[in-house]
Amino acid sequence: MIGIFGGTFDPVHYGHLRSALEVKDIFGLSQVRLIPSAQPPHREQPAASALMRLQMLELAVQDQPGLTVDTRELNRPGPSYMVDTLKSLRQECNDEPLLLFIGSDAFNHLKSWHQWRHLFDFAHIVVMTRPGADVQHLDDFLKARLAGDITELVHNTAGKLYFQQVTQLDISATAIRQMVAKQQNPGFLLPDAVIAYIRQHTLYQRT
Ligand code: ATP
Repeated sequence: MIGIFGGTFDPVHYGHLRSALEVKDIFGLSQVRLIPSAQPPHREQPAASALMRLQMLELAVQDQPGLTVDTRELNRPGPSYMVDTLKSLRQECNDEPLLLFIGSDAFNHLKSWHQWRHLFDFAHIVVMTRPGADVQHLDDFLKARLAGDITELVHNTAGKLYFQQVTQLDISATAIRQMVAKQQNPGFLLPDAVIAYIRQHTLYQRT
């Protein structure tokens, strides 16, 4: 099974990295692909350029062979729709189950995603519990997809919804950007190599 973890990663931090590593072990994944989005359709445009966000991700995972960076959204023109990303991954991965991991805050906005129901044609969705975010009431479409245990994900290539608790690190990229803008030290919230990159390129000087 392959895990997929999309985001703006502006910048990548230990909240992302710890949950990616944890779900890799919990679900026995061969790899987790971190996929930076080029033009996120649902939010303000990132503060750092796509290339810089990519370089920070690469620095963050350089010593973690199970975590890989997938650049397909950066190589595709137009908005980064997850449904297009999953469709192209499905073509490459044949019958291997794909698990799309999203935080519970992102899950609460799932219905605003482009062609959201079709996400389940190509992957399972695993919602990771995130501090401070309540999960919305499930409608009949989502309830019908709810998996009782991990074996249901293993035995289907796509189509299931599953909730998984991960270690709760209350870290957000927004808070890190604000800290950097205020000349505060974001140490221990993200890898040192990424902090060094932020300093070197004088990123996030303004909120
Ligand atoms: P921002 O503060 O700029 O909104 P973010 O820290 O939420 O950024 P994103 O790149 O937007 O990071 O998030 C990518 C994915 O990672 C989303 O599915 C999000 O829910 C999840 N995520 C973000 N922070 C955490 C965290 N601390 N623990 C677990 N998952 C997280």
